[in-house]
Amino acid sequence: MFETLTKGFRAARNRLAGLTELNEENLEPALRDVRLSLLEADVEFGVVKRFLGRVKESVIGETITNEVEAKGKKIKIGPAERFIKACQDELVGMMKSEGPALVHAKAPQPTGIMMVGLQGSGKTTTSGKLARLLESQGKKPLLVAADVQRPGAIEQLKVLGERLSIPVFSIPGGRPVDICTKAIDHARKLKRDVIIYDTAGRLAVDEPLMVELQQIKTNTKADNVFMVVDAMIGQDAVKTAAAFHERLGLTGVVMTKLDGDARGGAALSIREVTGAPVKFVGMGEGLDKLEEFRPEGMASRILGFGDVVGLMKDFEGVVDQNKAEQDAKRMLEGRFTLHDFLEQIRMLQKMGPLQDLFEKLPFFADSVPEGFQVDEKELKRAEAIVSSMTKRERIEPELFTKDKGRIQRVAKGSGRSDKDVVDLLQRFSFMKQMMGDIGQQAGLLQRLPGMK
Ligand code: GDP
Repeated sequence: MFETLTKGFRAARNRLAGLTELNEENLEPALRDVRLSLLEADVEFGVVKRFLGRVKESVIGETITNEVEAKGKKIKIGPAERFIKACQDELVGMMKSEGPALVHAKAPQPTGIMMVGLQGSGKTTTSGKLARLLESQGKKPLLVAADVQRPGAIEQLKVLGERLSIPVFSIPGGRPVDICTKAIDHARKLKRDVIIYDTAGRLAVDEPLMVELQQIKTNTKADNVFMVVDAMIGQDAVKTAAAFHERLGLTGVVMTKLDGDARGGAALSIREVTGAPVKFVGMGEGLDKLEEFRPEGMASRILGFGDVVGLMKDFEGVVDQNKAEQDAKRMLEGRFTLHDFLEQIRMLQKMGPLQDLFEKLPFFADSVPEGFQVDEKELKRAEAIVSSMTKRERIEPELFTKDKGRIQRVAKGSGRSDKDVVDLLQRFSFMKQMMGDIGQQAGLLQRLPGMK
């Protein structure tokens, strides 16, 4: 996922590594790397231009400093990190949205969610995924089969409903508007508190479809209108979303198929171009592969730093819940140690298929090879390096800063080169700082239980 984008940011970072200051001249090639990868990933041209302009403005100018303030402490950072930090901030700014993912109706009125979008975008599948997600949060969804256009869509929804043990409402031969309107009474009867309308798609935007969708929206007074957009189709997806938004007033976008070889550009441009924010993302065909969209996590993944919070969520199923929360808290405060890192590697090795997790793991996000092969060797190497450190070194990696002897000892003990050890330590240190920033920006610390 996002290899195209990550490639450009990584090239820029490497280009700036080792410089002592940033100026117009040395920044230009780095900006070019990013520009090319954004365009290749199918980010809209104007969006690319504005993004680069803002990054440039924030790293060049009066405020030039090699120190950033974090938690009252000054941390020294180099130009490469300053640049990546600016990119992180701008990426988050581009994708962030106001308000909750889902607007809930006032009880006893059931919450209405209209799913709209082109055929094949993943509307029916996403309706099922969303129903499952809401049920896991204690809601009682009702699925409504209003896609009378695509042959098999109604049957497909019924099968999904059966698999999930969630009721599906349909009227054979009925008109979509009637089906949706009648579904509200049906939901009341069954005491369902959320209604998900799986509406019809078309191969392209057309007038009769828009009229039908507008009628459904008016008649059902749906609280949410989500457009399901296939990330694989890039800028076309953005154009279609703009057309839907204009007619229907979307409350959000669900971007599907981000797990595939999508170039990811649509995820970046859609809010800036259409004004409709991404609220959920589909990360696979399985019914459990729907995630609430978190701009900070997405920006980190794009930059090649993994997604710490997403990773902790995955861990929750395997490890002690309290410990997972403690770990997440520490990591987000930037108090992540090499010891935690090693523990995580060991845990990952126990967890079976690593592919999904790998993309979220800070240190290895860069090293997920194209295709679906996971490089276990890389994991083993990092584990060997960290294992060769003393307990104290794992908690205080600063000990390595001025002590070449320590680096040599660890290199020797792990059978790696000095450079490998330094590389791991450098990335670790920057990562730690980034995580602290992400935690602060997202206000996540406040939301974790036990934190004020
Ligand atoms: P609809 O015509 O919009 O209702 O589309 P469907 O729900 O039938 O989905 C079309 C295809 O996309 C199906 O094969 C789905 O399994 C697949 N699909 C949907 N969401 C995702 C996703 O997030 N990732 C992947 N890889 N496939 C998806």
